Amino acid sequence: MTDSNKVLEIIKQISEQIQMEKDFLTELDNVIGDGDHGINMARGFKEVEKKLADFSGKDIGSILKAVGMTLVSTVGGASGPLYGTAFMKAGAAVGAKNEMDGGDFLNAMDAAIEGIKMRGKAHEGEKTMLDALIPAYNAIKKTYEENNDFKAAISQGVEAAEKGVEYTKTIIATKGRASYLGERSIGHQDPGATSSCLMLKVIQRSL
Ligand code: ADP
Ligand code: MG
Ligand code: MG
Repeated sequence: MTDSNKVLEIIKQISEQIQMEKDFLTELDNVIGDGDHGINMARGFKEVEKKLADFSGKDIGSILKAVGMTLVSTVGGASGPLYGTAFMKAGAAVGAKNEMDGGDFLNAMDAAIEGIKMRGKAHEGEKTMLDALIPAYNAIKKTYEENNDFKAAISQGVEAAEKGVEYTKTIIATKGRASYLGERSIGHQDPGATSSCLMLKVIQRSL
């Protein structure tokens, strides 16, 4: 599916996309949170981008762990520790490999989701990033297991993530700042689910 260099390239593209959608992510967070999700993500990934040159030549596990540590240490707010944990767990799951296949990707994504659940004490249906990531994971796994075609699988994953983002409009937030709004959080999409979907789209495009 991809090697270390490609992983670095994808991370750079994720950062660029986040910088591009910074204002949009922030607007979404303005409505149901404190209006900083885009700012937080853009700051964290700018720091990641600065370190990409140092990551070059490292194995995929080390790269993902370093991304996670950078996000934890540079992003204030809930999303830093959550995405940071996700990348660190993903890195630990991949380990010292220089190439990964669809099965490795699924293991990494599963570990990332478990990390977010643990760190955020959250589960599906609480209007968080998990509402994009979990359906995406399930769709990727199902399609990949059916035909061993990762491109087809990630396309299904992106579709499921987009539906997940739409679904977050229909539910009440019970975790994070949006939960302070209770029922008034209904009708608005979750910023974190949106940024998760964005990352999956970049992966899809890059393959
Ligand atoms: P903060 O809410 O601290 O300002 P951000 O605005 O950067 O942080 O991130 C908000 C996003 O983080 C939410 O849209 C949601 O997807 C996610 N989130 C918040 N709390 C949790 C949690 N406990 N578990 C999972 N995701 C969460
Ligand atoms: Mg916020
Ligand atoms: Mg904040």
